[in-house]
Amino acid sequence: MTQRIHNFSAGPAVLPLPVLEELQQNLVALPGVGASVLEISHRGAAFVEILEGTERRLRQLLSIPDEYRILFLQGGSRLQFSMVPMNLLSDKDPSADFIVTGSWSVKARIEAEREGRMRTAWDGVDSDYDRLPTDDDLELDPAAAYAYFTSNETIQGVQFSSEPSTGTVPLVCDASSDFLSRPLDIPRYGLIFACAQKNIGPAGVTIVVIRQDLLERSSENLPGYLNYREHAEQNSLYNTPPTFAIYAAGLVARWLLEDVGGLAAMEALNREKAAMLYDVIDESAGFYEGHAHPSCRSRMNVTFRLPNDDMQNKFLTGAEQRGLFHLKGHRSVGGIRASIYNAMPRESVVALRDFMQEFVDGHG
Ligand SMILES: *Cc1c(COP(=O)(O)O)cnc(C)c1O
Repeated sequence: MTQRIHNFSAGPAVLPLPVLEELQQNLVALPGVGASVLEISHRGAAFVEILEGTERRLRQLLSIPDEYRILFLQGGSRLQFSMVPMNLLSDKDPSADFIVTGSWSVKARIEAEREGRMRTAWDGVDSDYDRLPTDDDLELDPAAAYAYFTSNETIQGVQFSSEPSTGTVPLVCDASSDFLSRPLDIPRYGLIFACAQKNIGPAGVTIVVIRQDLLERSSENLPGYLNYREHAEQNSLYNTPPTFAIYAAGLVARWLLEDVGGLAAMEALNREKAAMLYDVIDESAGFYEGHAHPSCRSRMNVTFRLPNDDMQNKFLTGAEQRGLFHLKGHRSVGGIRASIYNAMPRESVVALRDFMQEFVDGHG
């Protein structure tokens, strides 16, 4: 068998090995179906069962109440940057509120501004997006159509530990890089979306969890594909959905339920994995400098810098010699980024921690 690397890619990212093996095993013919999941109609009984199974497991993992719909869409999270304002903001609303905490919320606000009026309730640009607001910092408009935030900024490595309080204003969340990494209090949200390729499965499907009453806001005049209500009425079969990605996401959800033991267990493991790396950073006497303020550190994307570029390049080369790959930070932030999503094995994080420790011992 080909050796697998320690894969710290930010996305598409590592998947659980048992899921990959099951995908491989069933690729040519699904048991009882006699054809690949790639080859069957999205309206046939076999696929509808897969779709319903994926939805059922997501509901179970996150305790999603009946008054929320789950939609399986395409277009990635980027399309949600537009669909959210298209569907939830009308001419009668004064504006929507944006909590801007890093690169992804900046991009989301740019798209949203094309659809209607946006207000900025908080913006972390002045401190280079290294921290998050407390509820007291937010300047929210109680009449806003919704309030938008990004639960985990994948590029900067800052993550909310709990939801901002927005009163009766519906809370909208881009959870692309931490969905399913911990339990969520779904009733606090109006809408949550997440593309799959960080924590849920392969690229191609984007999950939207939306409170039923918000579907009433979608205008008849929207193009069919861009209308949440249309997708809800057709049970995500308005057009051909990304069938393979939905199947794979269902296997990941089953892995979370049966192998990991649910999202509380997943959260505990994620907490432990992240702490291993942050401990090395904190004990390095400033050799490694974390980007995120310690109170806002992400458990999914650990971002840090070394004293200079030369040292950073040495670090990346040395890491690859140990089988530790894709650690280079995003070009907009630089430095190192270790993405350690749900499926990142504990052993890989141990291998990175040991390498970081040896590197600082040799160069610090
Ligand atoms: C990756 C990512 C996106 C973009 O997702 P696409 O599927 O490429 O459109 C948006 N938001 C966050 C937080 C992300 O991590």
